[in-house]
Amino acid sequence: MTWRVQVLLGVVAGAVAACGPAGPIDDDAGVADPDGGFEPEPVLLVYENDPAPAAGDDLLFEWPDDTAPWRVVELDAVRSGDGVDIALTVDDDTESVLLLAQTTPNAFLIPVTVTGPGGEVYVTDTPPDDLLDADVTAARGFPAQLFSPARALVQRGTLSYLLPNTPDVLFAPGTYRARIGVFQAVGAEPVPASLPIRVAAVFKPKLAPGTPRTLHLTVTFQTPLLDAQSAPTDPMWAAAEQRVREVFGQAGIVVDDLVYQDLNMPAFDTVTLADETCDGADLSALFATTPAPARPTAQLFIVEAFSCTIGGFDVGPGIAGISGGIPAAWPLAANANGGVAVARSFFDDQPGQLGNIIAHEVSHALGLFHTQERSRPTQTDVFDIVSDTPEEEPAVLQNLMYFISNDFTDLTDGQAAVLRAHPLIQGP
Ligand SMILES: [Zn+2]
Repeated sequence: MTWRVQVLLGVVAGAVAACGPAGPIDDDAGVADPDGGFEPEPVLLVYENDPAPAAGDDLLFEWPDDTAPWRVVELDAVRSGDGVDIALTVDDDTESVLLLAQTTPNAFLIPVTVTGPGGEVYVTDTPPDDLLDADVTAARGFPAQLFSPARALVQRGTLSYLLPNTPDVLFAPGTYRARIGVFQAVGAEPVPASLPIRVAAVFKPKLAPGTPRTLHLTVTFQTPLLDAQSAPTDPMWAAAEQRVREVFGQAGIVVDDLVYQDLNMPAFDTVTLADETCDGADLSALFATTPAPARPTAQLFIVEAFSCTIGGFDVGPGIAGISGGIPAAWPLAANANGGVAVARSFFDDQPGQLGNIIAHEVSHALGLFHTQERSRPTQTDVFDIVSDTPEEEPAVLQNLMYFISNDFTDLTDGQAAVLRAHPLIQGP
């Protein structure tokens, strides 16, 4: 086991799942107090309090074409205070829905509340009574959403939220309602913002029982030591690819149709992350190079290294991989949260773990949280929202989504169900 890969605590509730060194924590986190009113109106994208995006405004990108196998629907969104209220209706042919929202790049989005057709609470804005300060801190100001039955995290620029993100909540046909909040700052006291928001939903049709499930993977290389031509015959890469296939095979998912390509942008050999938070910056720019997908595919970037300064010290060499979100903002093109990045140089000393980390990061990007997060400095654990994942040693150590990387890659049935439900997982 290596202890070089640890989770960024703030990442439990962050837009980015960085599987790297312990990260900074806001000293004094607070609880958002959003306006919880919900009065949906049959109006498309009303911006009552602020300007709508202008035509050609490149701050707000286009949704992908509504082509099979996805059904992408831009949702009516009614502005209410510092957010919008939306409703989406799920029919009995829907396996899952990926809720997507976008605002200006440096603002933050979170589903403040989500309720099901029968009033089921998926995401609540009422925090539990027994919160620890560390929990509040870890949640970047949104502990109620972190501890909700269907956990929601705050994300920067682009919101992606998988419904359902755990098999422990009912997912039945009917109308789901959500309030999407927008904030110009998060942390101790989230600061609401009045900014344009667009909301869409990707509906994944149910696959016939017994249909094989496949994951298409596009691998983009940006490192001087590995490229699209050399990767297939590189021993470390070949072993990693095999490992990724084995891990997803546990969930009945065939990794199919691997595409290798080169980015040819050496400025991204080392991805420099924002100081102290180890997110955004070059990572957002890297993910934004992703072209519009012609078909469902996960986007994996292999770079040489990460760089991130915390307290004047570069912790980047200890970061193995980062997901643009839990889940990532797939299938959107050219957005800052739409990919997974893994640092090749991290594996010089442990080549056998490359495949494990790729599988771990892609699983974040498909919707899986760490089985547990350990907050600093109290060392309290925050467990995931899938009830069949282990919480005790040794089983907890053997799970793919344990917060410290090791040689184990187990998945539970519940985790497999989440992976299989994601819209990127398609039939053959
Ligand atoms: Zn992780």
